[in-house]
Amino acid sequence: MIHIKNIHKAFGDNKVLKGIDLTVKKGNVVVILGPSGSGKTTFLRCLNALETPDQGTISFDDGSLSVDFAQKPNKKTLLALQRKSGMVFQSYNLFPHKTAIDNLMLGPVVVQGKNKAEMRKDALTLLEKVGLADKADLYPFQLSGGQQQRIGIARALAIEPDLLLFDEPTSALDPELVQDVLATMKQLASEGWTMVVVTHEINFARDVADHVVLMEGGYVVEEGSAKQLFEDSEHPRTQAFLQRID
Ligand code: ADP
Repeated sequence: MIHIKNIHKAFGDNKVLKGIDLTVKKGNVVVILGPSGSGKTTFLRCLNALETPDQGTISFDDGSLSVDFAQKPNKKTLLALQRKSGMVFQSYNLFPHKTAIDNLMLGPVVVQGKNKAEMRKDALTLLEKVGLADKADLYPFQLSGGQQQRIGIARALAIEPDLLLFDEPTSALDPELVQDVLATMKQLASEGWTMVVVTHEINFARDVADHVVLMEGGYVVEEGSAKQLFEDSEHPRTQAFLQRID
């Protein structure tokens, strides 16, 4: 469905991504694991055009979009890429002075120019979906971290993306709130959403991932099914990584 080829990204002299290839199939959940500093977040941000890769291509099988970063894509192309995916951030990134429902409506009303009344109805449906319909008019500071993150997920859904990107969505949460957010993500996976998830939650990867990718030092070290990576891998880097997190 989405073919990502040879993504390179440097910040000054710091070469962070050194040629990442990945194919994401429609309806699949891809989990990206790897030690801190290996480039996982940068890669996710490249998929959403929050960072612009120095070279590489991203193309959608349905012919809707194909971006070649070596050709310096224009703003319109980058915006089109941005609209393909909804991003869920580690620190939620909600607007603190907007209510839960207004946080959801901002993207669709401002960016997509949707009708406000219609969007309010859709936003309430999304809040229901993440179990927070009764919190619509509360501000982020009145919600727990887990609730804020579920608002973050609903906001990512609000723009009706092809793809959901999660950047360590549970790592800022108190341990007792992590399961709530993982349950919401599992529900989305079972509904057939295409998801790319950077996480340290190995059990989530084991239970939910169709495809697991291990990154290190700006490269994909190994990829395959959860079973291939967690049980059958003979790759020394994979074994070293799994030993560190056990
Ligand atoms: P991971 O998500 O695997 O921990 P990151 O993608 O966050 O890795 O970071 C990889 C490297 O890229 C780090 O060395 C980090 O300092 C660098 N980096 C990330 N974003 C920026 C940025 N905006 N400017 C400069 N360096 C950055």
